[in-house]
Amino acid sequence: MKTHARVVVIGGGVVGVSTLYHLTHKGWSDVVLVERAELTAGSTWHAAGLLPLFNMSYTVGQLHKYSVDLYKRLQAETGQDVSFHATGNLRIATSRDRMDEYRKYCGTANTIGVPFEIISPKQVKELWPLLELGGTGDTAAIVGGLYHPQDGHIAPADLTMALRKGARAKGAEIYEQTEVTAVARTPAGEWKLTTTKGEITCEHVVCATGNYARQTGRMFGLEIPAIPVEHQYIVYEESPELKAYRQGGGRELAVMREPDQSYYLREERLGWILGPYEAGAPARFADGVPSWFGKSLFDGDLDRLVPHIEGAQRRVPALANCGIKDIVNGPISYTPDGSALIGPAWGLPNVWLNEGHSFGITAAGGAGWQLAEWIVEGEPGIDLLAVDPRRFGAYAGKRYVVTKNEETYRNVFTIHYPDEERPDARPAKTSPVYDRLKHMGAVFGQRYGWERANWFAPTGVEAKDDWSFRRTNWFEHVGNECRRLRERVGVIDLTPFTKHVVEGPGAEAWLDGLVANKVPTKTGRMALSHALTKRGGIRSEFTITKLDEGRFYVVSAGAAERYDTDLLHKRLPPDGSVRLSNITTSRGCFVVAGPRSRDVLAKLTDTPLDNAAFPWLTGQIAEVGLATDVYLLRVNFVGSLGWELHFPIEYARHLFVALFTAGAEHGIGMAGMRAMESLRMEKSYRMWGSDLTRENTPLEASLDRFVRMNKGDFTGRAALAAQLEKGVPNRFVTLEVHGVTDADPLGNEPLFDAKGRMIGRATSGIYGHVLKKSLAIGYVKPEFCEVGTRVAIEILGERKEATVLVDSPYDPGNQDLRA
Ligand SMILES: Cc1cc2nc3c(=O)[nH]c(=O)nc-3n(C[C@H](O)[C@H](O)[C@H](O)COP(=O)(O)OP(=O)(O)OC[C@H]3O[C@@H](n4cnc5c(N)ncnc54)[C@H](O)[C@@H]3O)c2cc1C
Repeated sequence: MKTHARVVVIGGGVVGVSTLYHLTHKGWSDVVLVERAELTAGSTWHAAGLLPLFNMSYTVGQLHKYSVDLYKRLQAETGQDVSFHATGNLRIATSRDRMDEYRKYCGTANTIGVPFEIISPKQVKELWPLLELGGTGDTAAIVGGLYHPQDGHIAPADLTMALRKGARAKGAEIYEQTEVTAVARTPAGEWKLTTTKGEITCEHVVCATGNYARQTGRMFGLEIPAIPVEHQYIVYEESPELKAYRQGGGRELAVMREPDQSYYLREERLGWILGPYEAGAPARFADGVPSWFGKSLFDGDLDRLVPHIEGAQRRVPALANCGIKDIVNGPISYTPDGSALIGPAWGLPNVWLNEGHSFGITAAGGAGWQLAEWIVEGEPGIDLLAVDPRRFGAYAGKRYVVTKNEETYRNVFTIHYPDEERPDARPAKTSPVYDRLKHMGAVFGQRYGWERANWFAPTGVEAKDDWSFRRTNWFEHVGNECRRLRERVGVIDLTPFTKHVVEGPGAEAWLDGLVANKVPTKTGRMALSHALTKRGGIRSEFTITKLDEGRFYVVSAGAAERYDTDLLHKRLPPDGSVRLSNITTSRGCFVVAGPRSRDVLAKLTDTPLDNAAFPWLTGQIAEVGLATDVYLLRVNFVGSLGWELHFPIEYARHLFVALFTAGAEHGIGMAGMRAMESLRMEKSYRMWGSDLTRENTPLEASLDRFVRMNKGDFTGRAALAAQLEKGVPNRFVTLEVHGVTDADPLGNEPLFDAKGRMIGRATSGIYGHVLKKSLAIGYVKPEFCEVGTRVAIEILGERKEATVLVDSPYDPGNQDLRA
């Protein structure tokens, strides 16, 4: 075995081998893979080999698309047959909501170029003659379907072998029966891996260890939020009806899914494979895979399977006529949100994760492609936030992950509503005023482990969401919250914000090199700033306030805590001139906004709040009520007159009561995240993570005013300069969508010109209750960005007319903010 390599990949499942393959195809040949047993010995060998292109996520959809395209050409490249059966995938629907889900998905598919068809019940029957359309007895009627003609299934072991051949042909080495048992940093900053075959030192390590992710993580001191769940499929004997159909000239049937019965069904040698996602499937190996497990399987659990078998037999009666040959029950890695962990490990240099894959056969190609790009080029080519390992934080401990993974598994086939909030492992992280908010009718959602009020049910209204792709029960109440914030005064609890203090003699210069805007030089000034990637894409967004000489308060999105801490931490200068403190959980945050917000706050503080003493976009340290050391920032994300109060967390209850007492005469009330969404889109405020991602530069986001090209160097500056030279390829617009009666845009809708050519993508959308307009925001080619330009947007399969509005259509001159 080699003793040194540029990269060592740990784990020889399909994901590890794909990573190795792509590293070599990016030109790195000094790469090694070590596998404790033999290739595919983990979950890969027993996977059913389905390759569904369907995925609601813009990111994951792109990874899957890449995989399918790659797998089709692998045989020609490597000579290894991968048994790709391009049967197509058919998903049937038995409700309008399910069809809405498919139509919502079609928007995403269009934006990433995945071919699909929405088909009628008659076409479903033509594609799948052995299926009953239902509508009688206890079998629901099929109302339509979603068909992907170009995907199908593959042989996972053959696929792995083809990737192996492709990697070895370009210089990679693979060592089987070689287990990594310990890791350590060398004084030179490399990684030394101890294996059962000796030691190997490397620059980069990739962990692709599937069900072993927990114990791999422990070697590095990481708590990786990936724990497997039991997953079963049934292999049937030969089916007489299927045999007759095929012998009669019928083509191989598409892989069929009936999500409302939570199963998939595909042909297997004139018999069937039936794979359900059952309720009650337990998480396994939360403390690591025991040594006895090896390449084994669990016993099949027929009781869990029976309801799905019965449902499938009603839909495909031929199933009842063939016996069960085998039940395969294996561990399938899961994460709390069901997406994989692809990207850098937090807190450690050059440690990369490609873990937590539950659709690993489908994802391996794309996951290897993007991770290799990240390692070799320093950046992934697409926005990977949805799979970035740092989207989870320390809250994702063992019990949380077990509970959430079991919930995610049993919900694989439920309808993925845009306003869906799942109940398990909640409440976990709460603001100190959580119980008060609940008492006020809060309907909570969970983000980054935090409970956040989405909206407030008034007295007499049930505090419960009725999830939908259309306007639903919370619409009207959110509208009232919006109006309160524009007409009187409202409070939003934004305690989950990520909060850092950056201080030291080198703080200002260091921050200035990190972000595109000029870091404030005067105490009390504040700047919205973006940390860019080397390619100029938006990586992070920070509101930076100068608290004092050499001391800055840096606020970013609540869900970005680990993601941003990791950036700041990894970029700290080694000379100790900058100190970084993460104070997220020691400060709470209330937004007090609306035309009466000054009157309310003035009763609680002696700090003058008039424009001269406290202008917009400045901050002061103040006493508010009995709370001391409150960072009072005159800024907010709803675009009304207002302040954010960032206070020592122990004052949360006091401040909350004080604000409501002082605000009673002004009609103060709470508002939730959905009102904030609506209000911020009326102001064209871009949201980090959806509107602002590494796929677009701040110039494309039309945030030119937050970029200071002449201030000196900063990360991404060269890329922006090149873009300015060549021409900015996209521009950000706010659109009014016409003719909407109940389905507003939600984000991820394609935009078209008059000739039907795709010219952009909406990244967010909602109804603007104060403007009384259905709104979408997103990117278009620059020739479509002029105010008044007409474009079309596809919402749930329907094309609607839309007009480009002025940026910030509510109060474009920011008069309210300056009032
Ligand atoms: C019943 C079942 C059916 C499935 N069907 C499908 C399907 O149809 N389509 C689909 O896309 N997905 C399917 N999956 C999921 C799929 O099997 C996995 O997502 C995929 O195999 C994961 O691949 P991997 O490389 O991440 O992990 P694995 O295949 O588990 O590979 C990890 C490897 O790491 C090795 N390893 C661990 N620790 C060490 C160490 N310390 N040193 C060296 N080596 C180590 C292990 O031995 C193992 O070989 C199914 C899963 C199950 C259980």
